[in-house]
Amino acid sequence: MEGLTSIERDAVERALDAQSEMLRQVENWAAVNSGSRNLEGLATIAARLAGAFADLPGEPSLVDPLLVEAIDATGRPYEIPHGRNLHMAIRPDAPLQFLFTGHMDTVFEADHPFQALSWIDAGTVMNGPGVADMKGGIAVMLAALKAVEASPLAERIGYEIIINADEEVGSLGSAALIAEAARGKRAALTYEPSALPDGTLAGARPGSGNFSFTVRGRSAHAGRNPEDGRNAIVAAADLALRLTKEIGPTLSVNPARIEGGGPNNVVPDLAILRVNLRPATNEDQARAQSLIDASVAMVAAEHDVQIHSHGHFARPPKPLTPELEALFGVVRQAGADLGQSIGWKPTGGVCDGNNIAACGVPVIDTMGVRGGSIHSMEEYLIVDSLSERAALSALTILRLAGEGA
Ligand SMILES: [Zn+2]
Repeated sequence: MEGLTSIERDAVERALDAQSEMLRQVENWAAVNSGSRNLEGLATIAARLAGAFADLPGEPSLVDPLLVEAIDATGRPYEIPHGRNLHMAIRPDAPLQFLFTGHMDTVFEADHPFQALSWIDAGTVMNGPGVADMKGGIAVMLAALKAVEASPLAERIGYEIIINADEEVGSLGSAALIAEAARGKRAALTYEPSALPDGTLAGARPGSGNFSFTVRGRSAHAGRNPEDGRNAIVAAADLALRLTKEIGPTLSVNPARIEGGGPNNVVPDLAILRVNLRPATNEDQARAQSLIDASVAMVAAEHDVQIHSHGHFARPPKPLTPELEALFGVVRQAGADLGQSIGWKPTGGVCDGNNIAACGVPVIDTMGVRGGSIHSMEEYLIVDSLSERAALSALTILRLAGEGA
């Protein structure tokens, strides 16, 4: 800790001292199932988080999600309920504003076999649902902010906190809240686990869009009058093939499912095609959207079917901008001063960092714990990384606050 001022050293020490408190929080929070569809579990965890975050000088509030519509297997739209999102604003009038985000939901629903915490290596490596992604990260964020709040530099900055309840299912119910909070912020930090277990951060990310194409044809007898039928399954398959023609290094297209059809002797009049597309850049996203529009029009005309498109690029691409590189530089220097070697690399995954970046705000979205095997029953947290990453965040925030001097 050689290059640190005494103010910085105090904050770092407070963050390091929070180790056992953070571990208790992770154990407490990961014991609650908060699968993205488990509204009761999400309400429980939201209440616990609100209690913990009340230690900061602001009022945590729970914000209702926006209504989210999806398409069912019969082509009908229906609403998907989501949990409420935790929101806080601290010193909103300070000239230098930041955004800190995390998510309280996990990919493990209430009926998933992975529910319990255990030690892989007693005291050092913990296995459990959400311990890395990202209940550990939420503990890191809170410890870092508490350390910053005890510092005289805290008065220079204000910030908003959002911990949403639907990140693992695309943040459709919370994207507007995040976009609103991101507006005008100097920078944002999001507490997803590091991209690699050694602490490497995620740099550029592609975008991602999920689409449902409802194809309506006309049924007929497969033997008597097939010429009168318009086969929706064949049209959906044709659409899937046309979309995959543009697959390349900067655009992935994954037709994931075709639903519909019926008995062998009936020309099927309904098919739902589900596709995920991941464009590397905004230009690729525009290209992908044109591809969708043109393919839908062409397939509808050639097969004489109706096609309804549902969905959008809910995660825009997150490129490595000069502003983001500068922010990485601050984190890397903070790491170096703490004896941590911090690098970053592009990744194929998406998260709320994509949506924050789309608001023009530089964001580092993997400030959470070190761990790995997320989204699997092998998910683990390297326990010592709690205090390590809390110190890294606290120092980073203080350095950014110093810019306002
Ligand atoms: Zn996550």
